Amino acid sequence: MTDVPDRRLLFVHAHPDDESINNGATMAKYAAEGALVTLVTCTLGEEGEVIPAELAHLAPDRDDTLGPHRVGELAAAMRELGVTDHRFLGGPGRYRDSGMKGAPQNARPDCFWQAPLDEAAAHLAAVVREVRPQVLVTYDPDGGYGHPDHVQAHRVAMRAAELAADPDHRPGAGEPHAVTRTYWNCVPRSVVERGLAALRETDAHAFAGIADATDIPGVVDDAEVAVSVDAGTEHAARKAAAMRAHASQIAVDGAFFALSNDLGQPLLRVEHYRLAGEDAPEGAPVGDLFAPVAS
Ligand SMILES: [Zn+2]
Repeated sequence: MTDVPDRRLLFVHAHPDDESINNGATMAKYAAEGALVTLVTCTLGEEGEVIPAELAHLAPDRDDTLGPHRVGELAAAMRELGVTDHRFLGGPGRYRDSGMKGAPQNARPDCFWQAPLDEAAAHLAAVVREVRPQVLVTYDPDGGYGHPDHVQAHRVAMRAAELAADPDHRPGAGEPHAVTRTYWNCVPRSVVERGLAALRETDAHAFAGIADATDIPGVVDDAEVAVSVDAGTEHAARKAAAMRAHASQIAVDGAFFALSNDLGQPLLRVEHYRLAGEDAPEGAPVGDLFAPVAS
């Protein structure tokens, strides 16, 4: 192939909607610039809590059809972001949503939490060898907030990067490839606090309450942030549209949104990244995930 874009990014997420909340503006920006943006989603999100009453029948204790519904929501979100390469780990439905931490669904043999690490990572390593991304984006070791599927997505992404680069892993199944840089999603504490303060000052919002900073996944000290991507107004609007496409899971109201707990939080138009397992370099944050890292 001669038309492979020079810049390639791989995003690994647990459920449909996580990509739009965490990385929507970033994905839209790089896709618009002609980079190859690949999304791998590890489950269909079958155990998510449904917000709109008219969709309540999709829930796992009723029709149990939330997974296929969310496949459609994700496809609509990717159209908003201009991302054409989105896949499910091992194929759609290979790994089921494990539910919240401590839920009985954590023990289902078909859930992602129960997947053997190297088996799940081998599916992703094959994608890494095919797409050959310079940049890999996933969660921190806690998955941002401890959800079993987010923790597992982190483990699988980190292991897949090792396997893809290892010539002894499935020799003959694609050329080994080492990603140049791995990032973990994060949100600087000052940004969260400013956003929540702005929401508290808004009289007219659509939510039952307002989130606390401790409710927001991936909050870190500002000094830990390596890259802050300000994708601009148009791509931020794409992100908001992508989040609206996940209507079973997200309620968007202007510059804010809520999940099924109906606690408002800021919809972040600037997205932030830590270097995996490393302190932020001197001069951080920079504005580009491909920018060279000062040593
Ligand atoms: Zn999730």
